[in-house]
Amino acid sequence: MNLLSVEEARTRMLSHFQPKGTEAIPLEKGLHRVLAINVKAQNNLPSFDNSSMDGFALIAEDIETATSASPRTLNVVADIPAGTNPNIVLQSGQAARIMTGAPMPKGADVVIPVEETDFQDRSPGTSAPKKVSIYKSLAAGTFVREQGMDVRTGQSVLSSGHKLRPQDLGLLGMLGVANVEVYQTPRVALLSSGDELVPVDAELKPGMIRNSNSYMLSALLETSGSEVLNLGIAKDTRKSVEEILAAAAAQNVDMILSSAGVSVGAFDYLKDVVEAQGELSFWRVNMRPGKPLAFGKYKGIPFIGLPGNPVSAFVGFEVFVRPVLEKLSGLIGKNRLKVRVQLDEALSSDGRESYLRAIVHEANGKFSAQLTGHQGSGNLFSTVQANALLIIPAGIKSLEPGAEVDAWLLD
Ligand code: AMP
Ligand code: MG
Repeated sequence: MNLLSVEEARTRMLSHFQPKGTEAIPLEKGLHRVLAINVKAQNNLPSFDNSSMDGFALIAEDIETATSASPRTLNVVADIPAGTNPNIVLQSGQAARIMTGAPMPKGADVVIPVEETDFQDRSPGTSAPKKVSIYKSLAAGTFVREQGMDVRTGQSVLSSGHKLRPQDLGLLGMLGVANVEVYQTPRVALLSSGDELVPVDAELKPGMIRNSNSYMLSALLETSGSEVLNLGIAKDTRKSVEEILAAAAAQNVDMILSSAGVSVGAFDYLKDVVEAQGELSFWRVNMRPGKPLAFGKYKGIPFIGLPGNPVSAFVGFEVFVRPVLEKLSGLIGKNRLKVRVQLDEALSSDGRESYLRAIVHEANGKFSAQLTGHQGSGNLFSTVQANALLIIPAGIKSLEPGAEVDAWLLD
């Protein structure tokens, strides 16, 4: 069987996925959801000229000569708390006490902070003075937040395909978007397979191991914004594999993800059972770790069979499953940041596209990388110690210290 390149395998896989439909959800449920519309501002931000200080609103020309030695005294004709709407027009010689966020009165063009006046009492409940002396001159516009200075009505602020972050929700709140149109969340059925697997809290008899992939893959799925339906462990029998796949398909999922049992072992039934109810391609991908990869459709539902070795499963997820889920979830752009790093040490590779576990640290504006522990595909501790995956391109057998490679930052 020919070896597919990683890029070829990923492109083939991606061609089977399209973004899901959309739904409107309340803004408070929006975190990490993928926006399905382009958002244009329906109002200016701020929507009215307001003060950025507690102080006195007045006319800049009136205080042009004010200093602490020779203050200018003005009549205080209004008091403007936040949340009020002053309907006065300030005249020369007049000032209005104003609080942060309160609308500027007409006629006024500057705010003098309370610290620059003779009236510095800001205890709650204090009423405005009759007169105020100003110790300092300030240019027109100072401490005034102008209508539309942040965002203008009609301006594009967020685009479809963007994953919503806390600050995005804040902005949508400012714009009065109470319900937000997002892509539906991908639903993924997760299953493990192997007679050697026991649940994490079960007694470990000789020859058995704990089903750790279930926790790792379930968490990886969550970081990609998917809803996970964990179906547990299939035994290495045809019947058990048939039952678990049928249960997965009954859950109205967008994808079935399995670990192990898709290799060429004598008890690896997953491929057979998927094929019996759909279609299956078994690919050997020119990568390390994680060469064997099963992809197909079971009863019309895309199926990805990752290798069972924990590091292979982890890498296979990052290389294939995350991009698929990003597409399915409507995301434009990537979750993972790719940076260029310099190797601290020499390394050897076997010519396959290799994903090595490493610690990347930054010094003097450069990233450098050191491998973590044993790089075998069963040695998950190497991944636990790592904060990055180094990507060694296909065809490279060795690299000297100082060589530069790409790295995906994991944290
Ligand atoms: P297989 O693909 O079934 O040949 O499994 C490859 C290796 O991965 C074997 O050493 C398995 O014991 C191990 N393995 C399979 N499934 C899991 C799992 N759910 N958690 C941890 N290790 C696993
Ligand atoms: Mg097995």
